[in-house]
Amino acid sequence: QAGVAMRNGQLVAEQRAMRDQLEHRAFHDGLTGLPNRARFLQRLEESVTRPAPEDEQAAVLFIDLDRFKPVNDSLGHDAGNELLIAVAQRLVGSISAHDIVGRLGGDEFVVLLDRVRTADEATVVAERLVTALNEPFVVASHEVAISCSVGIAIAPRPFTNPAELVRRADQAMYRAKAGGRARWALYQAGHDTASVTRLQLEADLRTALQRDQLRLVYQPVYRAYDQSIVAVEALVRWDHPQHGAIPPSTLIPMAEESGLIVDLGRWVLRTATRSHAQWRQAPRGGSLLLGVNVSPSQLNHPGFSADLDRILGETAMPPSSLLLEVTENVVALGSELVDLLSALRARGVRLALDDFGQGQTSLRHLRELPLDVLKIDKVFVDGLAGEESLDRAIVRSVIGLAHELGLRVIAEGIESENQLQLLREMRADLIQGYLLHRPTGPDQISVLLGGVPAPVDARVAAGARA
Ligand code: C2E
Ligand code: CA
Ligand code: CA
Repeated sequence: QAGVAMRNGQLVAEQRAMRDQLEHRAFHDGLTGLPNRARFLQRLEESVTRPAPEDEQAAVLFIDLDRFKPVNDSLGHDAGNELLIAVAQRLVGSISAHDIVGRLGGDEFVVLLDRVRTADEATVVAERLVTALNEPFVVASHEVAISCSVGIAIAPRPFTNPAELVRRADQAMYRAKAGGRARWALYQAGHDTASVTRLQLEADLRTALQRDQLRLVYQPVYRAYDQSIVAVEALVRWDHPQHGAIPPSTLIPMAEESGLIVDLGRWVLRTATRSHAQWRQAPRGGSLLLGVNVSPSQLNHPGFSADLDRILGETAMPPSSLLLEVTENVVALGSELVDLLSALRARGVRLALDDFGQGQTSLRHLRELPLDVLKIDKVFVDGLAGEESLDRAIVRSVIGLAHELGLRVIAEGIESENQLQLLREMRADLIQGYLLHRPTGPDQISVLLGGVPAPVDARVAAGARA
């Protein structure tokens, strides 16, 4: 009998363990071990319906990673998972014990702040989360830089609709993204109807691409010693029919995350090379270099080389007139991408390392990547104006090193005569910035090259609009 009782006890214990396990599975995210959506909503409901002192509110922070998809696409699924786990750990480490972090799925996380007295208390935590995720991560022995956008919604207690609170925080997160990412935004009731959801904007972008609603502007790049025009850089613009100008800082990451960057990038290349074909006819347009920004996810797409060939062929554009601008992020994509860049360069296409000075700049990349041009970022250029001579010393030696490696240097974001003067003294080869010329339409570039604007029908054919 004792045996039977023991056996029963064992069964009960086993069943309990299994039930606990199933329950845990039903309510936790398998990858990070954090509460999942269902569990988070439960906890949120408990929190917002609990009677509490009048000045005690609950806040939901909706967190979305800004550059997760490119990392996941390029380094692979395992690395992506590793990154999500590390993100979860940082989030947990950045909040206090009575608050809760959950994972909604993908690269979306939520935080419940159980007791806040003012909105400021919530924004302080949001700021801390943004800062925490701004620090680089190391996954699959690559250093990767991501960031996060955080939306905050605050509910007075009692509040009966926890899902609504998450929706509001999501809405606010979207505004944080639209504002340029790596930041937080607070939900405001008035913005509810006026603002758009991310999905809507993504759908609009798809349509904009199909209907040719994007346009390109071009910023001239000049030779430093005689200020003659040497190149133009193509920069994409989207004038949204309802929401006005959507800046590239919103548009490009959104295109990367939704995969639309491949179509968008192809459109940019095609449109820019067509304009270039027009400019080549102008008196000073024969040797104009065309700078086109390409993002890592675009390069990583298997069809990139073939597309590029086809597009260059369409207007018989000499490959050596094309300057592809890539950022240091491509290094994180590994050696295959470096091989691809080498192959492009072997065919005559020129390569620039863009944004040098922003983020985790490393001089090593100058040697690892097959480059022709180094673009010194506005951050460095801005630093020149101050009394601080350190920035000057750095820029001076970077330019010197670039020259030793056989690279030409473009200094960009020049806004003052003072900066221009210093950069000339430091032997920057090429200069670009609002001081010299703002980005402008293709016709204006024709004029700068001593030509006349293209006739209207040719303009339509070139896909360019005023
Ligand atoms: P970027 O490649 O570093 O481009 C230079 C940015 O600096 C442009 O911003 C340009 O308008 C701005 N700029 C130039 N001179 C000055 C100056 O003197 N002062 C200031 N404050 N700004 C100056 P924009 O057009 O907003 O583009 C932002 C970024 O979006 C670009 O940075 C580039 O990374 C990306 N982007 C733009 N077009 C494309 C595209 O067609 N494809 C891809 N993949 N990325 C693009
Ligand atoms: Ca650029
Ligand atoms: Ca740049």
